[in-house]
Amino acid sequence: MLRQVELVERVLSYDPHADEDLLNRAYVFTIKTHGSQVRASGDPYFSHPIEVAGILTELKLDTATIITALLHDTIEDTVASKEEIELNFGPEIAVLVDGVTKLSQLELQSDRTKQAENFSKLLVAMSNDIRVLLVKLADRLHNMRTLHFIDKPEKRKRIATETMEIYAPLAERIGIQSFRDELEDLAFVELNNEARKSILRRLEYLRAEGEDVVAKIVEGLKNELNDSGLQVEVSGREKRPYSIWRKMEQKNVTFEQLSDIIAFRVVVANVEQCYHVLGNLHAKFSMVPGRFKDYISTPKRNNYQSIHTTIIGPERQRIEVQIRTREMHETNEIGVAAHWQYKQQLGTPLSDSQQYRWLRELLEILEDASDPDEFLEHTKLNMYQDQVFCFSPKGDLISLPAGSSPVDFAYAVHTRVGDTCVGSKVNGRMTPLRTVLKNGDQVEILRSKNQTPSPTWENFVVSGKARSAIRRFIRQQQRDQYIELGKSIAEKSFRMHSKPFVEKALAPVLKVWDLENTDDVYYSLGDGTHTGRQLLDIIFPGERNKTDKENVVPISKSKTGGKKKHEHAVPIRGLIPGMAMHFAGCCHPLPGDRIVGIVTTGRGVTIHTIDCDTLEQFAEVPERWLDVSWDTKNDEVSLQVGRISVVMANEPGALSSITSTIAANSGNINNLVIANRSQDFFEMRVDIEVRDVKHLTNIIAALRADPVISSVERATG
Ligand code: MN
Repeated sequence: MLRQVELVERVLSYDPHADEDLLNRAYVFTIKTHGSQVRASGDPYFSHPIEVAGILTELKLDTATIITALLHDTIEDTVASKEEIELNFGPEIAVLVDGVTKLSQLELQSDRTKQAENFSKLLVAMSNDIRVLLVKLADRLHNMRTLHFIDKPEKRKRIATETMEIYAPLAERIGIQSFRDELEDLAFVELNNEARKSILRRLEYLRAEGEDVVAKIVEGLKNELNDSGLQVEVSGREKRPYSIWRKMEQKNVTFEQLSDIIAFRVVVANVEQCYHVLGNLHAKFSMVPGRFKDYISTPKRNNYQSIHTTIIGPERQRIEVQIRTREMHETNEIGVAAHWQYKQQLGTPLSDSQQYRWLRELLEILEDASDPDEFLEHTKLNMYQDQVFCFSPKGDLISLPAGSSPVDFAYAVHTRVGDTCVGSKVNGRMTPLRTVLKNGDQVEILRSKNQTPSPTWENFVVSGKARSAIRRFIRQQQRDQYIELGKSIAEKSFRMHSKPFVEKALAPVLKVWDLENTDDVYYSLGDGTHTGRQLLDIIFPGERNKTDKENVVPISKSKTGGKKKHEHAVPIRGLIPGMAMHFAGCCHPLPGDRIVGIVTTGRGVTIHTIDCDTLEQFAEVPERWLDVSWDTKNDEVSLQVGRISVVMANEPGALSSITSTIAANSGNINNLVIANRSQDFFEMRVDIEVRDVKHLTNIIAALRADPVISSVERATG
């Protein structure tokens, strides 16, 4: 176990301004709070946080991160609270420790490895400070180093699998190669020790056979390159058993050559020299085709940079050579942490080649920060900020776009679940469907077989899947309505010709209108694309002019009324159930008025008063007329807009007198337009919300009693 002085000295060696006192207090605090707790190894528990802190000093991280490592298990495993830590170590460290604690709790919630990809995204999304993630990775690394002390094989296997599928890829993703390699190899021991042993045996054999060939090759390469005047460092490094194994698994190859197990590295001062070395090697040695990779001009996703090439080397062996700068080399090993170090120690400008979007954002913060210590402090992980991760009651992890609601969640589970969703419980509580979900929420969807998607959901869903499913449903529902309406239009048109209606008669129409089936014919009548007149012209050619407006036969009310009446908030009878309906802007029908419905292209039914001038336009298309009436039994009071035209004296106070009269009679002015103005009078149109025609008549009577008003009429057309 790292002693207190050693730890502090390590930190001071790379950060002379570190808060020594605070480090010392954290060291003592963790020993005191963990007290007599013991690890599976038999060591005192506090040896674990101290070792984790030690691992992070290798990445040369700031004091706050080192202290967070020392305290990372105190909230979870001891009586210490976030408040206590804040009191002793300040708010910054309290937030960091709390962040690591949350990640640990998340681990307990779901150990489903099939969700590995999502789970690692969740970890990143929940770590709103990159230091939280770095502590978590170091924590896992130390736990893996001591994994063999755990007795239960199933537990060891579960932890190793999780490491292989979640933590090693995560370390790779943020570019900390040294963590990744070690995590993988420790997990490999647990998961497939036989395979690992066989690779080690093979490595031993190849090493023995090659004797000091590696050293000779290193010498040979060095001499060649020095001759051409380049200052280079050359080394040969054995690849890790797990990376050899992975290559064998992926490419189905055996390994027998040096190039399979040793990576030779040439490290130089700058990028120009990298290409210089490459040119020299390719000039002096034969290059093996198809093995050349330039990760300098095109870095890997995790920002790894290097040139790889395979040549027949100085000892006539096939070898792989990796060429990189010193800076790239450091970055490749420790990722994000390297950027911080470089800024702090060398002040070297960073290459702005293609990097992760979020990594670039890290660097921008780095550029802006006046004090290098601010870098990690103000770093937020933006990598998955456009996503939110939630759990199903069974612990399945569902990833959704940020801003998603329980409805999005339901559709992400299955379209059927979305379609039949009626409510939701988030973290065990009944919650409105429009609630915005947060990372780590557990969502339970309540369903009912009879439920159908609500068009209002469209206003708050954000996922494409939910949106398109809802739209599809609404379109289908609308289509069904138009088909029903179109069918009644067709029947009515036949009756007007005193012909019996048979569906078969529609056959010739399909060809003329280029449609698939009779439903399409009904649909095109229902949405107003074609008229009943046009239909009849095709079926009974030469029988024109037999009809006129007097032949209108109303659709019987009983047929369409009733069954789904509650769906309409509006009190109109005689509509097709579910049919879109609105009131005409020309005549503003009010309850009590005699009314008629007109089927309008693509807009459903428009309600006019029976004496509205607009109706003349529809005289020639009687099949579009619907006989409708007010449903007086409907006791839901809904306000309608009535329009009046007022002529009044042009004098002070006239306007306020009219508005107060309307208000006194419980009318609500919706709109007021001055139509005409002369010196003595002006004329205006007023839209008023009223209950029915009687209400409007009362208001008109009250206005007429006002001396400043010369005339008031209900406006039509
Ligand atoms: Mn721990």
